[in-house]
Amino acid sequence: MASTFILAGVMGWPVAHSRSPAIHQHWIAQHQLNGTYVLLPVAPERLGDAVRGLRALGFAGCNITIPHKVAAMAHVDVIDPAAKKIGAINTIVVRPNGELFGMNTDGFGYLASLRDVQADWRADRGPVVVLGAGGAARAILVALVQAGAPEIRLVNRSLDKAQALADELGGPITAHRWEDRHEVLDGAALLVNTTSLGMGGQEPLHLDLARLPVTALVSDIIYVPLTTTLLAQAQARGNPTVNGLGMLLHQARPAFEAWFGVMPEVTAELRTRIEATL
Ligand code: NAP
Repeated sequence: MASTFILAGVMGWPVAHSRSPAIHQHWIAQHQLNGTYVLLPVAPERLGDAVRGLRALGFAGCNITIPHKVAAMAHVDVIDPAAKKIGAINTIVVRPNGELFGMNTDGFGYLASLRDVQADWRADRGPVVVLGAGGAARAILVALVQAGAPEIRLVNRSLDKAQALADELGGPITAHRWEDRHEVLDGAALLVNTTSLGMGGQEPLHLDLARLPVTALVSDIIYVPLTTTLLAQAQARGNPTVNGLGMLLHQARPAFEAWFGVMPEVTAELRTRIEATL
């Protein structure tokens, strides 16, 4: 018997800390939909069975989080081209024909978070400085290149990782040494921290902003704390800033739309609700 109840969730290990249920349940209630979003703790050795079981269990799809974002790619049938470039998926959609479709919405979430703060933000405003070359950086770099960033200066503690990423993704990306992170801010229009430096319990990020134009948008994708030292430093000298909560909230929207058929909005009420959990 066909059912209109829509089931989605998030697979991770561990996954209890995930804010995704609170975000999706908020939208399910707001749009008065018949469905739910559940936590799916899945150990790495069970990932294949769990992903392939989605269809049999009647799921519309699920989010994929740490540590499964790369490994899950091997268990879906079709992967979105941008997610292939990123090398990781954070969303699976079970298509009507039963096919499992993998996509990555982190880059969308990041760009949408910038446009929340500056509605007319454009990637071609000037050079971009990206700190970090990990998983989140890959998604942000692919999105920035696609959006038309004219020059991207990629700075990472391990230069070889930044160089490999610049070679792989091509386009306007150049790799720079960690020691040069202060100098590469010269003339930049956007600075983004994608390293874990500044996250609660981690070392702070030491960065001298003297060379950064005061008009540059400064963003940090860390959301605990909401105001990192980098953002506080930027605000003190007059730069506009974007914290990491917007990316977290906006990355959930395309997945929700794919499963529930409604493109939800990031409202002040949702922000307040999720901020209260941080
Ligand atoms: P990841 O793949 O582990 O990458 C970590 C990055 O941080 C690497 O570039 C690493 O450099 C750098 N790093 C770590 N310790 C460092 C140190 N002591 N000095 C200099 N660089 C250091 O992690 P990720 O998944 O990309 O996540 C990175 C951050 O983004 C985390 O704080 C995470 O919470 C946040 N995040 C936020 C969102 C959101 O929605 N707002 C989404 C995803 C991630 P090496 O290459 O040299 O190791």
